Parts: sequence; structure tokens; C-alpha cells
Amino acid sequence: MAHRGVLADLHNHSCLSPCASLEMSPSLLARRARERGIEVLGLTDHNSALNCPAFAEACRREGLVPVFGVEACSLEEVHVLCLFGTAAAALSFGDRLLRSLPRLPYDPEKLGDEVVVDADEGVLELPDYYLGAALELGFDELCLAASAAGALVVPAHVDRPMFSVSSQLGFLPPGPYAAVEAMRDPEPSLRGGFAVVSGSDAHVPEHVGRRAFEVDLDAGALVAGRSGAGEDFLAALGAAFASGAVLPSWARAGAVAGPAAGSGRGTPRTPGAA
Ligand SMILES: [Zn+2]
Ligand SMILES: [Zn+2]
Repeated sequence: MAHRGVLADLHNHSCLSPCASLEMSPSLLARRARERGIEVLGLTDHNSALNCPAFAEACRREGLVPVFGVEACSLEEVHVLCLFGTAAAALSFGDRLLRSLPRLPYDPEKLGDEVVVDADEGVLELPDYYLGAALELGFDELCLAASAAGALVVPAHVDRPMFSVSSQLGFLPPGPYAAVEAMRDPEPSLRGGFAVVSGSDAHVPEHVGRRAFEVDLDAGALVAGRSGAGEDFLAALGAAFASGAVLPSWARAGAVAGPAAGSGRGTPRTPGAA
């Protein structure tokens, strides 16, 4: 069967994340992604999936396949991407996380607004608790709960000096991971034998697509707008991780640069990256 490379970017924040720009509505996120050639787009706000319904509609309008997630923050302050094929599954897991979220005094002046919106940027809710807090769930327990809920579990930015397994735990413990996410080609000790994926971790519109990855799929595997398209994609992505059919941003940049493809490290990232 014919294959083709699909550009995907699964780690992005909306205006619900306290640290993200207020203009980062799900609709603007989807529009920027479509303009940058992305076909599969993920939303991963901190500890909450409340903007997933708006994101579903925004992706439908732009012809993108949506992946619904959260970037959960464990007790040890390790960030973990928990990715679902439907908004309902992400919302349900978000409810689970909310029960473990300490209700810290929240000051929008200092921490930034957290805004639940609809697909037309109408404000629906302003949560009065801080979504960026560490959950009362240890890293292992969090990963197992996400996996049991049906998520693809991906420790986030394992090579970052903050909020990562390396910075908070010092190593990658065994776990039910589909892959690990890195910002650039990580040391073998950080990947723990797992597939590696890149992600933009966009908090502002300019960063959408800066570390998108490419996955080789059956040409007919991806149909935007089909119900279940996100679930189909995550199933195909799981298989692609296993078969090495995923090119992180640094490997894509290497491919553009010429025969050094695969050496990755030190090559410039995707052209057009901010
Ligand atoms: Zn993070
Ligand atoms: Zn993030």
C-alpha cells in the first residue's frame, strides 16, 4: 500500500494554560497549524482538557485531525503528555486529574488568565484554581492511570532542565510509555530504548509547528473529519513508533540538509522554526 509522510504536532497549549498567550485560542492554534502544513494537531493544556470541545470544532473547520490531551504535572513536577483520540476521553481523564489538583490560591494578575472558550473565542469559564500546580499523583501512578484510561503516555521534553524526568527524577523509570518527547536528539540514557518524538510545546502563535514531526502512514489511513480519526491516528502512531516510521524535527531538518540525515544533532531545526 502507498505511504506518505504526515506532519503532526501533538504538544500545544491554549489560552487555558496559565503560561500561554491569551490570543492562543483553539481556533487560532488550528488556523496557524493548518497554515504551516500540519495535518494532525494536539492540544495539551496543563492538567486540564476543558478546551478540547472548542478544539474539536476548530480542527473540523480547518480540516485537521485532532488529538486531545493534557500535559499532566506529577507530584514530583514531571510533565507527562497524555494523548486521547476523543474529546470525551480527554475530558473524563481531566476530571480524574481535577480530583488530585490542589486548589492553590489563584491570582490571574500574577499567573495569567486561564480561559475556557468556545470555537468562536467566546469566553465560557474562568477557572478560579491554578491549573499549573503539581498534582497529588506520583509520576508512576500518574502514568499508569493515564494508560489505564486509554491514553498514549509520553513523558514530555525529557531533555529539558525543568519539569522533566531528567531534571526531577534524574532518570527515566520503567513505565507504560508509547514514546518520549525531546526538544533535540536526546542521549540514549534519556530515551530509555523508547521511540522519540518532537513537539512544539507552543504557548504563543509563533511557535506553532516549530518542532512538528513526520510520521509515515498508509496513504488512506488519515481522513480529517471522519469520526474516530484521532483514535485511528493514535493507533497508527503507536505502530509507527514501534517500526521507526517517525521522524522528529531534528531528523526532518537533517533530511532537508542532505546526506547527513539521521545524524540529527547539531543540524538546524525545521526551516521556518521560530
Ligand atoms: Zn512541559
Ligand atoms: Zn507544554
